[in-house]
Amino acid sequence: MAGLDRETLDAALDALDEFARRRLPDAVLLDLDARDEFPEAIVREMIGPGLGLGMFFMPEAYHGMGSGAFDLYRICERMARVDVGVATGLFATFLGSEPISIGATEEQRMRWLTRIADDGIVMAYGATEPAAGSDLAALRTTARRIEKDGRVVGYRLSGNKQWISNGGYADLYTVLANAPGGPTWFVVERGAAGFTPGKPEDKHGIRASNTAALSLDEVEVDASALVGGVEGQGLIQAQAVFGYTRLMVAAFGLGAGWAALDRAIAYSTTRLQGGAPLSEKQGYTHKLIVPHAARLEAARAYVEETAARVDGGEPTLNTEGAIAKYLATEAGNRAADAAIQALGGYGYTREYMVEKIKRDVRITTIYEGTSEIMEMTIARDRWQNHLKTRGQYYHDRAREMEALEARRPGNGAAGAALALHAVAEIMECARAGRLTRHQHILLRVGEWIALAEGAASCARRAAAAADGSLAAKTDRRFAPEALATLARIFAREAALNVATAGLGWLVGAGGGDAAALAAAVRLPDILALQSGLVADCDAAADTLYDRTSRAAAAA
Ligand SMILES: Cc1cc2nc3c(=O)[nH]c(=O)nc-3n(C[C@H](O)[C@H](O)[C@H](O)COP(=O)(O)OP(=O)(O)OC[C@H]3O[C@@H](n4cnc5c(N)ncnc54)[C@H](O)[C@@H]3O)c2cc1C
Repeated sequence: MAGLDRETLDAALDALDEFARRRLPDAVLLDLDARDEFPEAIVREMIGPGLGLGMFFMPEAYHGMGSGAFDLYRICERMARVDVGVATGLFATFLGSEPISIGATEEQRMRWLTRIADDGIVMAYGATEPAAGSDLAALRTTARRIEKDGRVVGYRLSGNKQWISNGGYADLYTVLANAPGGPTWFVVERGAAGFTPGKPEDKHGIRASNTAALSLDEVEVDASALVGGVEGQGLIQAQAVFGYTRLMVAAFGLGAGWAALDRAIAYSTTRLQGGAPLSEKQGYTHKLIVPHAARLEAARAYVEETAARVDGGEPTLNTEGAIAKYLATEAGNRAADAAIQALGGYGYTREYMVEKIKRDVRITTIYEGTSEIMEMTIARDRWQNHLKTRGQYYHDRAREMEALEARRPGNGAAGAALALHAVAEIMECARAGRLTRHQHILLRVGEWIALAEGAASCARRAAAAADGSLAAKTDRRFAPEALATLARIFAREAALNVATAGLGWLVGAGGGDAAALAAAVRLPDILALQSGLVADCDAAADTLYDRTSRAAAAA
């Protein structure tokens, strides 16, 4: 498997924590946010030899450390725990280098990628345009050939890019433009004649990141600046990075979500209301804390599984990247929102940080593909699997979960099995009634698939923890019993959500008889599965507040 050994990864995580404690304490982060300032010197120090994250992101052949997807997920989560804005500045360099990593010739890689590890250069990724966001194929930036003696010697780029992270500060830009042969990536150096970054955008969150439009007015580049040397590969190359880069944004959702939730957990142990700490109140923990912990850990299970598969050499995992991003960023947003509520009036002020985290994490469901585009990607891909297997794809996945439940009971596999069976039935009903002609039904199917697959992943991770076979570099915050509890909580929620929302929308789209559909998705079994939910939430709260070990120590 690709990547670092555990000790090296742990050392990098420790170094990052230490750097953040020293250079990015809360007061500095709040100040950057208030002043809407990109900390250029700090970001350059983090990428460059100061902290060495540039090396971390690059393969060994280009003077990096050869980290794998799993390592990058762990680092990205840790960076986002500190600040999603600063993390975006770092990530944009990595993202900017991806078209080169994916599509460039060996000579081009040596020329550009080595500068990240050696010199700590800042990069930017210029794909989005004012009229081409989710639909990149609508791009209007052009690349006209410059020919000499019948040979293409260069290109003239003209057009506008929008929302480019590091746009105002990068040393090197990858820019997507329409060449005569189709969309193509070009590398543009900062300061090229005709190339002008716009003023920084005044954003809702990640105000410590720089986002700027780019204007290209007849910018001349050498023919050797065409990534890969062949026109028309740009959209394929842009697609090829998604399995990987969306995992990193998923990790941002995890980092920010947990950062907010941990602040709420700490706050609620000292905030007294009605004569007792909020942390002792079930109506508080079971609404504002526990379900978010379960959703974040389900998302983590999916992220870890996908990262391990990427490192294992599986080629295109775009759908899995989409599911990981969808689960983790939606969970991160919900957790951060709940954290504001959990701190009451204090949460609504800037000083307590959760308000900033909530504004920051909001971007994660927008950039690198919006949640709606994730839903569409997931549904379209898995729809093919449903058709190819004559409706058995998710029934088969469910049977795998039933086998896991039989082998290792109590790890959420029973609930995951019900959620997966329900998805299979909903997809079959939608197929028979041609209901996905309603786009909303197709996108909701994407959501239910993500929930059911997330529940299955979470059950597998909990079972692996019980077996003692978790990945060496996994996050080890929770013991096996706690992971099992969280997996059961999430699986119940996933199954109930898939079945009830699924039924609601199928009936709403004219999909048939509600009672027959309820039987098909096994709604009574899913309701019966809810038995024990409150006790599991009690146990999860005990774990999150470290009450079990304190009680044991007192006894
Ligand atoms: C802070 C920030 C940093 C960014 N950094 C970069 C960067 O470094 N490089 C870069 O290239 N881009 C970057 N982006 C751009 C980002 O990736 C796009 O904003 C995003 O892909 C969405 O495109 P859009 O804004 O044009 O929205 P649109 O595509 O217009 O979408 C608007 C809404 O419509 C929904 N929607 C769109 N199409 C459909 C459909 N077919 N069916 C249903 N719903 C649909 C979307 O989900 C969304 O809710 C950044 C954006 C921001 C805000």
